[in-house]
Parts: sequence; C-alpha cells; structure tokens
Amino acid sequence: MQFPRLHPDTIEEVKQRADIYEVVSEHVVLRKRGKDFVGLCPFHNEKTPSFSVSPGKQMYYCFGCQAGGNAIKFLMELEKRSFSEVVLDLARSYSISVQTLEPEQRQELQRQLSLREQLYQVLEVTANFYQHALRQPQGQLALDYLQSSRQLNQETIGQFELGYAPAGWETLYRYLVDVKRYPVGLLEQAGLIRQRQSGDGYYDYFRDRLMIPIHDPQGRVIGFGGRTLGDEQPKYLNSPETEVFSKGKTLFALDKAKAAISQADRAVVVEGYFDAIALHAVGITNAVASLGTALSLNQVRACLRYSESKELVLNFDADTAGTQAAQRAIGEIADLAYQGEVSLRILNLPAGKDADEYLRSNSPEHYRELLKTAPLWLDWQIQQIVANRDLKQASQSQQVADGMVKLLKKISDGNQRNHYIRHCAELLSLGDARMVSMWADNLLTQIAPVNSYRQSILTKKRQQHKTQSLPVAGDRTLLEQAEAILLRIYLHCPEHRQAVSDALLERDLQFSLSHHRFLWQQILDLMAENNISQVSHSVAATQTQVDLISSLQVRCLEFEIEMAQVSYLFHLDEKTQHEHLLRATQVIQAATACIERVMCEKRCRQYLKKWEEIDSSKEPEDQKLYHDLFCQEQQRLQELDRQRQFSLTDLI
Ligand SMILES: [Zn+2]
Repeated sequence: MQFPRLHPDTIEEVKQRADIYEVVSEHVVLRKRGKDFVGLCPFHNEKTPSFSVSPGKQMYYCFGCQAGGNAIKFLMELEKRSFSEVVLDLARSYSISVQTLEPEQRQELQRQLSLREQLYQVLEVTANFYQHALRQPQGQLALDYLQSSRQLNQETIGQFELGYAPAGWETLYRYLVDVKRYPVGLLEQAGLIRQRQSGDGYYDYFRDRLMIPIHDPQGRVIGFGGRTLGDEQPKYLNSPETEVFSKGKTLFALDKAKAAISQADRAVVVEGYFDAIALHAVGITNAVASLGTALSLNQVRACLRYSESKELVLNFDADTAGTQAAQRAIGEIADLAYQGEVSLRILNLPAGKDADEYLRSNSPEHYRELLKTAPLWLDWQIQQIVANRDLKQASQSQQVADGMVKLLKKISDGNQRNHYIRHCAELLSLGDARMVSMWADNLLTQIAPVNSYRQSILTKKRQQHKTQSLPVAGDRTLLEQAEAILLRIYLHCPEHRQAVSDALLERDLQFSLSHHRFLWQQILDLMAENNISQVSHSVAATQTQVDLISSLQVRCLEFEIEMAQVSYLFHLDEKTQHEHLLRATQVIQAATACIERVMCEKRCRQYLKKWEEIDSSKEPEDQKLYHDLFCQEQQRLQELDRQRQFSLTDLI
C-alpha cells in the first residue's frame, strides 16, 4: 500500500496521545524504578536490564546500545516500519481520525481502517445474536448447563455475555446476510462462516455450542470460544485467526480483570474459560485465562503491564501437573522467570481440582489464601525434584542433586542463583549444618556458570582471535589476569598460599609482569622477615592475612610508584571473593595453566622462527632439533588447553 502524506494535525495528535509506557510495555516487560521504568532491551541481547523508559520525558533510552527516542521511533525501529505506517497504526489504536493531505487518498485509507471497525461491529452483533438465542427454547439445554453444571447466576451469564450458537448449518449466516445485510466476505474475514468444500455456499463455523465471547483489553468482541453440549470433538472450539483475533496474543477476561490486576498488583492465569468466570463470579477479579495454548510472551506482557511488581500466579490443573506439564504451560515465560524479570508463582489446587471445581466446595477466602502462599516457580520446581525421594539414601540424594544442578544452571541472575544454591544445599543436608557448605560446594562445582573470570578470559580469547596479528597484546592481558588472580588468592586466602607456591614451582613459572614480580618479591621478603608460615589454620589464618596485607600497605609508602599498580589487589569485594576464591584449587590450576600457556606459545614462536630460518641443506640436524622442540611445545599447548578448559568449566 502506498502511504498517503499525513496531515500535520494528525501526526501531532498521535504524538500527544501515544504514551511511551503504553507503547513500550506491549513489547517489553517493564518494572518501575524511581520515576522511570526499566526492562530488557529489545534492540540488543542482554541479561540484565539497561533499557529505560521515562514517562515524564516520553522517551526511551538504552544504556547498553544507546537506542533511544519517542514512542513512534520505538515502533519504527522495533518493527522496521515507516513513519507513516507507525503513525497510522497508532492513530487506529487511539481512535484518532486520520486526515491526509490528498483527499482522494483519504477514502482508500478510511476503507482500510474501517475493515477492523466493521469486524468489531459484526462480531458484536453476533455476540448479541448468540445471547438472544440462549434465551430461546433452542438454547434451553445450554442455559441449563450454565446454571446447573456450572452453577452460574444470571448476573455472571450476563456479565460475560454468554450465549448459544443454534444447531443448523446456516442460522447465523442467514441472520447476518439476509436480515442484517452484511457482506459475505466480511463474515468470512471475521471467522464466523466457512466456505463449503464441495459446491458453493457457506456454513456457520459454530453450531450447537455454548458460546463465550472473547474481548480485547478495550472490551471489543474479537472472537469466540464455543463449548460442545454433547460428545462432539473438539470440546472447545476457538475462532480462527483473523485480522482482529490472535489466540497467542489474547487472554480471556483481561478486559474485566485489568483494573483488579492493577489493584492487587498480581495477575492470576487459569487454563479454562470457566475457571476464569468462576473466579470472577466469587469476586476474585484479577483472573484471566490462556486460550488453551502455552503462555506466550505477548500474553504475559499484556497482563503484566497492569502490575507493577510483575507477579503472575499460574493456576493449572494439578492432575496433569509434574514439571513437564508446568514447563509446557509456562512456555516462553521461563526465560523471563530465570532472569528474574517476572515473579512467577505456581498454584496447584488440592486433589487435582481446577479453580471452577475447587470453588464449588470451598470458599473464595480459601482460594485467596492459597494464592498468597503459592510457591515461586523455582521453589516449586525444587519441591517437585525433592518430592517422594529419600535423601538419606546416597543414590537418591545424588539424583536429587543432579536434578537441582540442571535447574540451577538455568538461573542467570547471580544473586538469585546463589540464593537457590544455598537453599538446595540446605535441603540436601537434611538439617545437618556442617553439611551445607559441602553440598553448596558440590552444586557450585557442577553448575559451572559463566562467571566473570571465565567470561573475561573468554572475551580476551575472542579479542585475541580478532586481532590475530597482535597475539602478544592478547597474551599480556591474559597473563595480567591470571597472575593477578594468583596474587589475590595468595593475599586473601592463607589456607591456599602453599598451593599457589607449589603450582608455580611445579610448572617452573615466574611472575612475568614487572609490577607483579615486584609485589611477589615484597611478599616473599615479608613472609621471611616475619616468619609467617604459609600453611596457616583457623583463627591464625585471618590474622596472618590481615598482617600480610597491612605490612604490604606500609611498604606502599616506601615504593609508591611500584605499588600503585598492584594495590588494588589488596581489596576484595564480596562478589570477587565468592567467584574467585571459593573454588581456589581449580582457579589456581586454571590460572597457572594460562600463564604456562603464554610462555609455551612464546617458545613455540621462537622455535618456529628458527626452524624456518635454517637452511636445511646446510644444517639438517639443527633443523630437526627445532622441529622437534616446536612439536613438543605444540603438544604441551594441547595438554594445557585441556587442563585450562577442564579447570575453567569446573570453576564455580
Ligand atoms: Zn539496547
């Protein structure tokens, strides 16, 4: 379609009305932070949110990739659409009348825009038709079903505009075409009729079914769910996908729930239409239903935009439960939950009941109580892993630990992961406090997440690949890091001092960088002067650690310039302590392997150069010597890479 030039008034009105928070929150889960909102940037890949939205300025900005602008720019960038397209679309959703500069184009445009309006209209008329049919003799069976089997009163039936699609092939078709004079094509586009496969003509899509209209968040009818009253399959039939209805983007009853979601700051998602209706009927009005599909990001965003704390309680049938069923139902939300972007809770009702069944024999207060105590999804999964296992038996507790490791690996948020490692370790320890750190250690060793040390090494490695012509620069940063790690461990972990010295000795390594070599010399001097034992234990350990560092700091005064480069090693934040020092043994091995590798590569280059320089006809023996030396170093390199990789994946 050729887009018309829009009248400046239209553009201005769209700019005024299109709220940055509303527009962005349809695509990004946003959390309130101060006056602004933050979320994961849709323009670049990230795990921690650096994308911010300011309703005050009506602007968005990403601190990670520097994307920024207003609501229109956001949609243009995100959907790769033109300015006119975006403005037109926004005008449509805010019901702003569109003026163009060329009157003849205006007509075509209105025609296109009005298709949606016409669809809304014919769907509304159809909903009324079904509601009317429910009150006719033909609808009696359906009404009985609602009143006796579902125990719904007139008020609820009216509130949800429940109806009945009469039996017969052309009842709705005749009504809409013959009586209401709607064009056949429009009915087809609305998903209300279907073309016959043989011959001409159309038939009603929904026949002899109890009808449940589905509304968009603005309350317009966009489709239907139809439940059979007999044994026909499928039990529930939904409208096909149309211009205005998309199953994966829609949540049933959101129009009626949005105010309550905002008030309760929490959304409840159930599986069936009647579960949501039953909850609303007893006053739990922050409930919506997924339309029989796994929850999609679109659906979750649609309901979470009304909740500030992004809390979602998923109440699915417990009889089909188990982790796999939950995983399926949770669908795309899993990642958001692991990233800590959504606070996802799982509610299993007792005795495998769904919400509708439960409320028939229990009070709404009971349900509310269960909602409040519903476990977080991660806790729930851990409960499932531990359920029915005897942790006193070694084989079973190992199986449980394996299950936990699988789960812990998925948690990308560091603080959250640490919390759950501790929690799992406590469960596995069965109340024996001495066992907690042993299990925590065991779990840590197995999950091998991307920690900052490993990440920085990998980044350096990648940079090294990029700048292949300058391998020395890469070596230096790698070396710098590996040496610093060893010095840190030596300074802060008296119990690992011996291991650091041994590892250096074993591989015959020296600190290569002059400032490190200087610090190492100072350390050795101090240790000798004060007769500080490398092997220290318990209370004395902390004491010697402080002694060593404070003595070094005194020396700083003497060697100001030299110490300036290394004094940062004296300080340790909690995170570094946790990540670098907890697995000291592995870290020492990885770091020394790194250092040795740098040396080894250097030797490789030297031998290769010699080997190439030698004239083979004159000095065949020398050539063989350098060739052999080169091959030896190559072999060692491979060995070191194995060690380094093993150690790196073994790090916390
Ligand atoms: Zn970004």
